[in-house]
Amino acid sequence: MDLAGFDFSTLYLYDPGERGSSRMYLYLKEKFCEPITESLALIHSVQGGRARIITGFPIRPKVFENDGPLGSIVLAKSLSDLGITTELFIPLDCLETLKSVSNEVDLPAVVKPIGKSMDIDGPWNLSIFVEYPGSNYRGVRHNMAGEAISNLTFPLDHLMSCSKTLCIGDGGNEIGMGKIEDFIRQDIPFGDLCQCPCASGIASHGSCDVLLPLGTSNWACYVLAAMLGFPLDEKICSGLLQAGMKFGLVDGIKGTPSLSVDGLTPTTEKVFIKHLESLSCRFKRYQQPD
Ligand SMILES: [Zn+2]
Repeated sequence: MDLAGFDFSTLYLYDPGERGSSRMYLYLKEKFCEPITESLALIHSVQGGRARIITGFPIRPKVFENDGPLGSIVLAKSLSDLGITTELFIPLDCLETLKSVSNEVDLPAVVKPIGKSMDIDGPWNLSIFVEYPGSNYRGVRHNMAGEAISNLTFPLDHLMSCSKTLCIGDGGNEIGMGKIEDFIRQDIPFGDLCQCPCASGIASHGSCDVLLPLGTSNWACYVLAAMLGFPLDEKICSGLLQAGMKFGLVDGIKGTPSLSVDGLTPTTEKVFIKHLESLSCRFKRYQQPD
């Protein structure tokens, strides 16, 4: 799979929330390699193996945001279609919600609760973290407002050394962002100085094999799924948004059940999906030159 010459820029430069994901992407591309290309290569390298996708970012006790779980459902299906045995992990308080959403959109998945059993439940060839809170170097986890949310979250940073890891995020506080911790500390609000007593910033500390930042974490999952051959379209994505709202997932910025994600309206999402649909057509032609 030689993707070195393929241009993904219409996807990673689209950062309508202006939270810095396009700058993170460009920094990674310059320092390491093209993140989308690296993500696809890593997924292809575990074909025939086992992967777990771990997601779920709490806003308040028992309330989770819609960025992460929706994309994870599509990503899990695309990995399963590739022949990778895939399971989804989410905090217990969001378990039934995720099952309901995946059934509602007819993309059923094996869904399990995050917990201590994850330490011994192996071996896994690949762990994919999607918008999962990461600890800073003092072990404190934060939201984007710089407030501590350690009491709402289960630390999973130690799992980073158990298998290959692909981490997806959009804010700098998610697990895996330690790969560009220096950048997050300099560039992202509260990156270096949070609002909680730890005063050590929201920048998460643990690194990963491949880090993929995009406008939203759902979009990053949609990109990978589409490039892996999943027939993603506007209908599937709007169905996910509606199911997420129906079963109580909230917009991470507004804090209420919504069709918007991180404050971005369904219309904005449609623009992104249009970019993605046209790019994935070009991508298929690029992969199979005549
Ligand atoms: Zn803090």
